[in-house]
Amino acid sequence: MRILIAEDDLVSRRLLQSTLQKWGYEVVVAHDGSEAWAILQAEDAPRLAIIDWMMPGLDGPEVCRRLRTVTDRPYVYVILLTARTEKDDVIAGMDAGADDYVTKPFHHHELKVRLRAGQRMVDLQAQLLATQAAISEQARRDALTGLLNRGAIFEVLRAEVSRAARARNCLSAVMADLDRFKQINDTSGHMAGDAVLREAALRMASSMRPYDSVGRYGGEEFLIVLPGCDYGSGMAFAERIRAAIADKPFPLHREDLPVTCSFGVASLGGPARYLETDTLVRLADEALYRAKRDGRNRVIGAQSEHSYHSSVAQFVSE
Ligand code: GH3
Ligand code: MG
Ligand code: MG
Ligand code: MG
Repeated sequence: MRILIAEDDLVSRRLLQSTLQKWGYEVVVAHDGSEAWAILQAEDAPRLAIIDWMMPGLDGPEVCRRLRTVTDRPYVYVILLTARTEKDDVIAGMDAGADDYVTKPFHHHELKVRLRAGQRMVDLQAQLLATQAAISEQARRDALTGLLNRGAIFEVLRAEVSRAARARNCLSAVMADLDRFKQINDTSGHMAGDAVLREAALRMASSMRPYDSVGRYGGEEFLIVLPGCDYGSGMAFAERIRAAIADKPFPLHREDLPVTCSFGVASLGGPARYLETDTLVRLADEALYRAKRDGRNRVIGAQSEHSYHSSVAQFVSE
């Protein structure tokens, strides 16, 4: 555990430092309040601090007050070090935002247990934050496949579309739908259907670059977002995934099952620069529908046909 000590008095600082090091703490030292404040503002600031009350420049309570105005950082547990023992002083110190105080010269055992209490607080908050992060990550995930869920992938698409528009970059959206999936459910059972969804998700996810995203858009529909990918690369990418699914049967519990998937691709950048998110999705959807009509297990692009091309052009506002 790293700990900050801010103390202007050399003797007291050295004593405190060697004591804490003996107890196993990694000590970061500040010689006055301004230095302490600078250290506490850093990205990897210690989460536990012992701060002297009387220091030139910023005093201990002022460092506490500043620290408590920051709300977007992990909590720092502060113990004020003070020669003052009057009740009013203690109240003033705690009122400034200190969590605890220790009087100088400090009593070893007392400091040790007070630090332990502080560490419990810090650990508890870290646990809480980790749990919170895990829950919000879980809320973005589809339970069956582990992919992003509909809301999350749409959010990614919206963000990437506006980023692409700002940076004048291209982007492709791919809508994928497993072929005759209902039939798989009907003949092999719902559990087999679920296994097919998981395997398809795995094959898609493992074909992608780190900055691409894939989500489960609906039952057996997937939406893939490819930032920086122009129309040609988007088509090539979809074709790669099509092959990854169709070329090798899915190993299921009882049997190996041939599975295919159809794809619709729509892109922005190049001739179609400022498509809205909803338009992009609609075009990918229309292309997918076309892939189904043309016989499934294929990739159709929203710019591969004259009619599609013109429907893209309609939404260009150069
Ligand atoms: P097409 O090639 O035209 O896409 O035909 P399809 O059978 O795939 O399409 P359809 O929309 O008729 O059927 C989709 C099926 O997906 C119907 C639904 O029961 C099934 N489904 C949706 N979600 C799940 C799921 O989570 N698990 C399983 N096993 N089946 C699902
Ligand atoms: Mg001092
Ligand atoms: Mg389907
Ligand atoms: Mg469908």
